[in-house]
Amino acid sequence: MSEIGIKHFDMNDIFNTLSLGLIAVDSNGKVLLWNDWVAKHSNVKEADALNQKLEQAFSEAVSPAFLTALNNTLIYRLPVVLSTALHRTPLPLYNASETNQQQTRMYQSITITPIRSQLNEPCGLIQVTDSSTSIKREKMLRSHSEILKKEATTDCLTDICNRRFFDAHYELAVADAKRQKHCLSIFMVDIDFFKAYNDYYGHIAGDNVIRQVAEALKSQLSRATDIVARYGGEEFALVMPYLSQKVAEQFAEKLRSAVSNLAIPHIKSAPFHQITISIGVCTGIPENGDNLLDRADSALYRAKQKGRNQFISIPLCETEEYLKQ
Ligand code: GH3
Ligand code: MG
Ligand code: MG
Repeated sequence: MSEIGIKHFDMNDIFNTLSLGLIAVDSNGKVLLWNDWVAKHSNVKEADALNQKLEQAFSEAVSPAFLTALNNTLIYRLPVVLSTALHRTPLPLYNASETNQQQTRMYQSITITPIRSQLNEPCGLIQVTDSSTSIKREKMLRSHSEILKKEATTDCLTDICNRRFFDAHYELAVADAKRQKHCLSIFMVDIDFFKAYNDYYGHIAGDNVIRQVAEALKSQLSRATDIVARYGGEEFALVMPYLSQKVAEQFAEKLRSAVSNLAIPHIKSAPFHQITISIGVCTGIPENGDNLLDRADSALYRAKQKGRNQFISIPLCETEEYLKQ
């Protein structure tokens, strides 16, 4: 600092006005400087801290990582920056929380720099800044981005996967099954006579049924590799790898009966008089050009034609003739 600067200011005034903590220690770790900011956030007055070993100056323990860093600076004369990710609260410094005046430990950013006293003795200067706000902001941004990620892939009515997630997952599942030559089953599920349900019971009741059906389908899944998605309107799609056609058929029946067991009255659905679903399922090892989804959709169409409240299962390798039987 220039002569002009030193003449114009009392250095103590400057140290004590700074909104960061300053502590200087001699080569034995004894405190030489303890500014007002440190006194305020540690509840230890300057007079009580001066000439004490730093770890004794505070009324609580200082983190061992901090003491090691300080020793390294004093011995090797190298500056150290304590990682805020690893060491959030190395010193017992506190913030009064806005809500209940309870003392909470301050998140700190700390640098330790070798300096020399006016008598040319090696010392260490510790600078502390309050990183609570930036860490809180970082946490908030992270949780916002997690919420956004979830919203982008979740259907807001049913809370199951949405169409966007399904499309991406379907592509990956098909590619995986092709590469590893394993079976993949696609189920297309559609609520029967749902237009009539909406017309008779109203759209809000209809939404409620979509939610209950989604929940019933989801509750049948137990493996991490299986997903159920709302494909659109009152249609759902499931992707399930590693099932034989026979097991896929047993599973389709489980889905059908889970919805039937909800026993939701639907007087406009003859002859069932309750909410039912139709299911098309296609199972096979996909090769280039195969479209499991289209085939499952054709099977669903067939289940509707055959009277609804049932599943039709087809293997991937069969031709369209199979559907016409
Ligand atoms: P089918 O047995 O052949 O499937 O007959 P359906 O009446 O179920 O089929 P259709 O495609 O004629 O009608 C589907 C109805 O689903 C039409 C629409 O009113 C209703 N729907 C679609 N999306 C929603 C939704 O988000 N909420 C509600 N409440 N109804 C919906
Ligand atoms: Mg439909
Ligand atoms: Mg329908």
